[in-house]
Amino acid sequence: GVIYHDGQFDDSRLALNLAQTAIEQGGTVLNYFNVKQFIKAENKIAGVIVEDTLSKKEFEIKAKVVINATGVFSDAVQQLDEPGKESTITPSQGIHIVLDKEFLPGKAAIMIPHTDDGRVLFAVPWHEKTIVGTTDTLVDDIDAEPIARDEEIEFLITHAARYLTKDPTMKDVRSIYAGLRPLVKNTAKKTAEISRDHSIIISDSGLVSIVGGKWTTYRKMAADTVNTAAVHAMLPYKECITNELKVHGAVDTDGITGTDYYYGSDLPLIATLITENLTYADVIHERLPYRKGEIVWAVRNEMCMTVEDALSRRTRALLLDAAAAVEASQVVAELMAGELGHDQHWIETQVREFKEVAKTYLPSVNK
Ligand SMILES: Cc1cc2nc3c(=O)[nH]c(=O)nc-3n(C[C@H](O)[C@H](O)[C@H](O)COP(=O)(O)OP(=O)(O)OC[C@H]3O[C@@H](n4cnc5c(N)ncnc54)[C@H](O)[C@@H]3O)c2cc1C
Repeated sequence: GVIYHDGQFDDSRLALNLAQTAIEQGGTVLNYFNVKQFIKAENKIAGVIVEDTLSKKEFEIKAKVVINATGVFSDAVQQLDEPGKESTITPSQGIHIVLDKEFLPGKAAIMIPHTDDGRVLFAVPWHEKTIVGTTDTLVDDIDAEPIARDEEIEFLITHAARYLTKDPTMKDVRSIYAGLRPLVKNTAKKTAEISRDHSIIISDSGLVSIVGGKWTTYRKMAADTVNTAAVHAMLPYKECITNELKVHGAVDTDGITGTDYYYGSDLPLIATLITENLTYADVIHERLPYRKGEIVWAVRNEMCMTVEDALSRRTRALLLDAAAAVEASQVVAELMAGELGHDQHWIETQVREFKEVAKTYLPSVNK
C-alpha cells in the first residue's frame, strides 16, 4: 500500500471561527437573517431587505456593494436580483455515514481508490467516530436539509464492509448526513468531472456572486471576491490581509483531547465557565462527549439561539449520534431557555422542531 498525508477539520467550527474573526476585524455579523429582496436605486443595487427569522422583523441594510456567497442557494439569490436568470450552479449531493470508532481503530484513515462505479471513498477517524463517505449524486432540488438516498447509504455500507475492521450493518450506523456541493455549471455529465474551481459573476445591477469553489481554497475565493467587489464599488484600495491573518482560536492544540481541542485559545475561558455551576461539567447525554457548560458557552459566545444550532453546528451531536442528540434535546433546550429567558412553550417548540430535522439523520432502524 501507500501512505500519504492530508488535512481534516470541522467545517461548522471553522465557519464559526471565521465569523468571529470577521467581528474581531471590525465587521458586523448577523445570524439567522435572510435576504428577502434587494434595494435598488436607478437599477443598481443599493442594499438588501432582510428578515430576522427568529423575530420575523424586517430591516433595510444599505450597502455600496453586496456580495452573494450563498453556496447552493446562489441561484435563488441571483434570481431575486434578476428574475428568470439561468442557473449557474449544479448541485451535487454527497452523503456520509457515521460509525463507532471500533470500526476503524487508530489514527489513520483509509482511502479506497476504486469503488464499483470507479469513485474514491474514504473512511476517516473524526471526533472519536468513523465517518465513511462520500457520494456524488446529481440532484434537481436544492433543499436546506437534503436527504440521503437509500442507494447512497447501501453503497457506503457495502464498500465499508470490505475494508473496515468489522462489517457494519444499518444498525451500527449512528448518523447519516447529506450535503450539497455548489459546483459551477458546465456541460460535463457526471458531477465528479465538474470543476471544483470558483467563478465570480457581476450582474448588470452590480450584485457580486461567488459560485463554486471548496473549503480548501476559501481564502483565495474570499480574496478574489473582496478585491473584485472593492474595485466594482470604487472603494479605496486596500491590500487583502488574509495571507497572514490567523483565524479566531488559532493555537497549537497538540496533546489536547476530547472536545477541548477544537476550542483553541477559547479553551481556558470555557474551563472557567464550567466551574461556575456544579452541573456544567456533566455531559448532555451518556453517549455524547459534550458538557452542559459547552452549551452555555455557545449561547453566550457563539451566537447560538436554537437547539438545532447547539446540537448540529456548535457541537456535532446530531452528526455523531443522531438518536443520542434527539434524547439530549430536552436538556439542551432547558439549559438554553435558562440562558436566553425563554418559557416552556419555547422549549417544547425547539425540541419538536429539532426532532423533525433529526429524522433524516436517523438510520431507518431508529426512526
Ligand atoms: C459531501 C461534500 C463533500 C465536500 N468535500 C469537500 C472537500 O473534500 N474539500 C473541500 O475543500 N470542500 C469540500 N466540500 C465543500 C464544498 O465544496 C463547498 O465549498 C461548501 O460546501 C460550500 O460552502 P458555502 O459557504 O459556499 O455554502 P454553504 O455552506 O451552503 O453556505 C451558504 C449559506 O448561505 C446562506 N443563505 C442562503 N440563502 C440566503 C439568503 N437569502 N439570505 C441569507 N443567507 C442565505 C445559508 O443559510 C448558508 O448558511 C464538500 C461539501 C460536501 C457537501
